[in-house]
Amino acid sequence: MKEAQGGGALPGTSLQRACRLLVFVCALHLSATLLYYLAGSGSALRPPRSPGPANRSRAQPGPPPPDCPDPPPLLVGALRVEFSQPVNLEEVERINPEVRGGGRYAPKNCKALQKVAIIIPFRNRDEHLKYWLYYLHPILQRQQLDYGVYVINQDGEETFNRAKLLNVGFEEALKEYDYDCFVFSDVDLIPMDDRNIYKCYSQPRHLSVSMDKFGFRLPYNQYFGGVSALSKEQFVKINGFPNNYWGWGGEDDDIYNRLVFKGMRISRPDAVIGKCRMIHHSRDHKNEPNPQRFDRIAHTRETMNSDGLNTLSYKVVKTDKYPLYTKITVDVGSPKK
Ligand code: BGC
Repeated sequence: MKEAQGGGALPGTSLQRACRLLVFVCALHLSATLLYYLAGSGSALRPPRSPGPANRSRAQPGPPPPDCPDPPPLLVGALRVEFSQPVNLEEVERINPEVRGGGRYAPKNCKALQKVAIIIPFRNRDEHLKYWLYYLHPILQRQQLDYGVYVINQDGEETFNRAKLLNVGFEEALKEYDYDCFVFSDVDLIPMDDRNIYKCYSQPRHLSVSMDKFGFRLPYNQYFGGVSALSKEQFVKINGFPNNYWGWGGEDDDIYNRLVFKGMRISRPDAVIGKCRMIHHSRDHKNEPNPQRFDRIAHTRETMNSDGLNTLSYKVVKTDKYPLYTKITVDVGSPKK
């Protein structure tokens, strides 16, 4: 008995073993088949996996937006501009929800024709800046520009240097974005017609051609002050603006000379579209008329290649990103004594 239980030599026992082995092999085969079937039918029954958001965007990258139409279809023409009510900047932010921090904007549904940096030379004119932001942000958005607003604030108490601040604005704005056009605007000038597009043309553009303070006409044909627009190429071609006009006057005439000496001419809107208002103010402290301006203007041809972008030196003191503009406070030094 003992021997038989231990799987001994009896022929009946061998048969039993063979049978057990056969049953085992069959069971193994059956389970493998079952597993294979379940795995296969499981995946067949599973619903097809929908592409996740990442997969979806990789699979179908939407077509690039079309170029914005030229002229922009949202323009309204003549505008009422007045300065009797004070401006609340929070309200200006509220009504311009699409302006991003630092005063940046680009149209959502089309590709702007130009990337425009607006450069405003500045010192102690916060009330004027509020009016500028209030009027200009809606206009620039209707003009469908990809733009940024840079207020270049002269630090300290030295005599004001408008043109040098504009040079700084050019350099600093380019550090932030690949702008192709630069609009240089006084803080107190507001366009009265949104068809006066704040962009660049094949020739340097004078935008403030019809100012109320001059009876809505040019004070003289060569006048290039107030608001002007130069492409990056035009600006570089004239070596930027002069750095050595301290105090009021003359620097815009020097810029005009530079453009003419480099073979360019001024383009302008007509006197209706080019109308603009200036906010009245008394002369700023430390911006007295520059007595050297006449002499300097007479020598632009000789000085322009050694005074401008290639000799610009300054120190950024502080950069503030406000909701509606970027303020760059800068030390531009002082006049050579
Ligand atoms: C000055 C310019 C100024 C213009 C209009 C000229 O005499 O040189 O800088 O823009 O007058 O006021």
